[in-house]
Amino acid sequence: MSNNNELPIAIIGAGIGGLTLALSLLKQNKKVRLFEKVSEFAEIGAGLSLAPNCSKVFDRLGVLKKIAVLSDTPQNGYITLGDSGERIHNTPFSEIENIFGYPYYQIHRARCHQLLVDEVLAHDPDCIFMNAELMAINETEDQITLEFIQHEDQSVACVIGCDGVRSAVRKLYFDETKPRFTGYVAWRALVPMQNIDAEYQQPVSFVNLLHQRQFVHYPLNLGEYLNIAAFAEQDWQIESWTEPADIEEMHSVYSDFRPSIHTLIDAIDPAHCFKWALYDRDPMDVWSKDRIVLMGDAAHPMLPYLGQGAAMAIEDAWYLAQAIANYDDYATAFAAFQRARKSRTDWVLQESRAAGERFATQTPSAETYADDKAMSTKVMFGFDPITECEHAYASSA
Ligand SMILES: Cc1cc2nc3c(=O)[nH]c(=O)nc-3n(C[C@H](O)[C@H](O)[C@H](O)COP(=O)(O)OP(=O)(O)OC[C@H]3O[C@@H](n4cnc5c(N)ncnc54)[C@H](O)[C@@H]3O)c2cc1C
Repeated sequence: MSNNNELPIAIIGAGIGGLTLALSLLKQNKKVRLFEKVSEFAEIGAGLSLAPNCSKVFDRLGVLKKIAVLSDTPQNGYITLGDSGERIHNTPFSEIENIFGYPYYQIHRARCHQLLVDEVLAHDPDCIFMNAELMAINETEDQITLEFIQHEDQSVACVIGCDGVRSAVRKLYFDETKPRFTGYVAWRALVPMQNIDAEYQQPVSFVNLLHQRQFVHYPLNLGEYLNIAAFAEQDWQIESWTEPADIEEMHSVYSDFRPSIHTLIDAIDPAHCFKWALYDRDPMDVWSKDRIVLMGDAAHPMLPYLGQGAAMAIEDAWYLAQAIANYDDYATAFAAFQRARKSRTDWVLQESRAAGERFATQTPSAETYADDKAMSTKVMFGFDPITECEHAYASSA
């Protein structure tokens, strides 16, 4: 079926993936409408890692320099024992730019997000519809009608679900993979940097480990904050970016960690301290049907242990935009996109699980990290989505 070019491409969800896709398509002069359920974007979330593999996409889209000036770039990534502070491994992040062409950026998600919103609106001020929570999708021969809670129906040519871990498009149109509670929770917090010791103000990312608990921290917002992400086993099952956390509970969960970790916990800004249950989902077999497709977390949500969730959504956005440019009709483009992307996202998803299992099942030692495949091979950071995408569509067109 040929494309209805009178109608816009609909993107559901203005997160990192949806915005990157919108920008890629707008740069091709496509008519795009982006539907977002929240009524306004709030400064929710904290640190987001942008590894060299996704920086290639931002570079091609002309936004990388703006991202770079808002980002911190750690020079080292130390893994230490939580009690003694003994250093058992170092990832020399300072060498990443030499090896892979781009540094390892860490940025506040809200800053990266706002930058992408501004870029999209600069191309088309009418592109984003807020307060548009998708409720139903009705498909006919030559168009698709979208129904929203509190927003008038919209006629569109095709639908791209970028609506995150609890995707409505996935639920409405594809089999819902049942999430599995992992038994682990994460705390995310920000500490104003002026409240902490100089030792923690260096451009270094720390992973402190002890008996199946991780306490990760790194500078964020150009040194304004120390970003904390802490993981531990607990039977608490709310999956949310906005559930407030109890600082006293963090003291108790990490009670046997060294005193300086507790000094950090004491310095947490309570307004920026959240708790989040970690759910795992199996890779889906099918992400595209006719003129409807999923990408990013909607298609392949992954555990956060490798910090590659946003990177996968950004790589996806590039591939999907190029598929739309390369193929005559949406259904063929979406099928080609899935074929091109599935093995990469399945692999990263499995590696993220394996990284979580390593810390959950082993007593950490230098040997534990000596064969850290995902970090030490070129496959994760060295992947070039621009070139790989060209090859993928050239061979399957
Ligand atoms: C508010 C928020 C804060 C986050 N903070 C962090 C963080 O600090 N660190 C980190 O590593 N990751 C964070 N993430 C997750 C991270 O952004 C994603 O894992 C990754 O970027 C993949 O992006 P995505 O575009 O697939 O999904 P997301 O970035 O999650 O975006 C999904 C978007 O879809 C919208 N949406 C959902 N349902 C509907 C619907 N029915 N109709 C219309 N719109 C809908 C959501 O409001 C959201 O804007 C956060 C996500 C969100 C939504």
